[in-house]
Amino acid sequence: MIVTRFAPSPTGHLHLGHAYSALFAEQAARTEGGRFLLRIEDIDPVRCKPAFTSDLMEDLRWLGLRWEEPVRRQSQHLTDYQDALARLRSMGLLYPCFCTRREVTAEAAASGQAPHAGPDGPIYPGTCRHLSSEDQEHLRNERAAPNWRLDMAKATALAGPLVWHDLERGEVVATPQDFGDVVLARRDVPTSYHLSVTVDDHLQGVTLVTRGEDLFRATDLHRLLQALLGYAVPDYHHHKLLVDASGHRYAKRDHAVTLRHLRSEGMTAEEVRRTIGL
Ligand code: GLU
Repeated sequence: MIVTRFAPSPTGHLHLGHAYSALFAEQAARTEGGRFLLRIEDIDPVRCKPAFTSDLMEDLRWLGLRWEEPVRRQSQHLTDYQDALARLRSMGLLYPCFCTRREVTAEAAASGQAPHAGPDGPIYPGTCRHLSSEDQEHLRNERAAPNWRLDMAKATALAGPLVWHDLERGEVVATPQDFGDVVLARRDVPTSYHLSVTVDDHLQGVTLVTRGEDLFRATDLHRLLQALLGYAVPDYHHHKLLVDASGHRYAKRDHAVTLRHLRSEGMTAEEVRRTIGL
């Protein structure tokens, strides 16, 4: 049976782009007689606010969406991500990185890298990859807690060639190495988007991941984590991103296109659906 999910981060109010994404996921499940889940991706306690979670649920209900209970809130499942990290660590695939974001950016630039060399920004130059345990000990005392990075060369060598399937684009050859040594657990948050989304899609039995095409490249990395952790591989369907009249993607800061605002202006859920074509 098909299982889809909508997985917003409660960092602001939902806009028309979210409405499209949520309805897209729900319709993909409903037309096949499947299940539709809602997941709250709230691992970042600074950016995510509980009020946005209750507001977004209300917005989605207003839009006519219904989902299975209980809703999974990532902040309540941090031990699941810890378990996955422990497995990767025991495979020798993680290392602590003490570099600050500024240091990474500066080093990447000094080595001639373009600012957006990797899908998530600069590719880590590898400064902390081969630190001795004495150096690690020293840095633990000197510096803030480390980020935990994936040793990409080791990970891809272990996993071998990988593909995944996109309902629109067909078979995709994964090139997770383009990300370099990604951070899987942040110093301020004991996990990361990439890790928790992969663990959750697995634990929740999601069979079809639908999301915007801005996350198309991220799937290469999720596919690698699935291979390393022995997870089943869902299908994917990356959908178009809605744009405003001037061709810009909707953003959470655009108050005018939030579902709340449109509703307060008298727009009906039916009209929202018609506007976004779902
Ligand atoms: N939480 C992510 C976001 O709001 C979506 C993640 C996903 O669908 O994989 O952009």
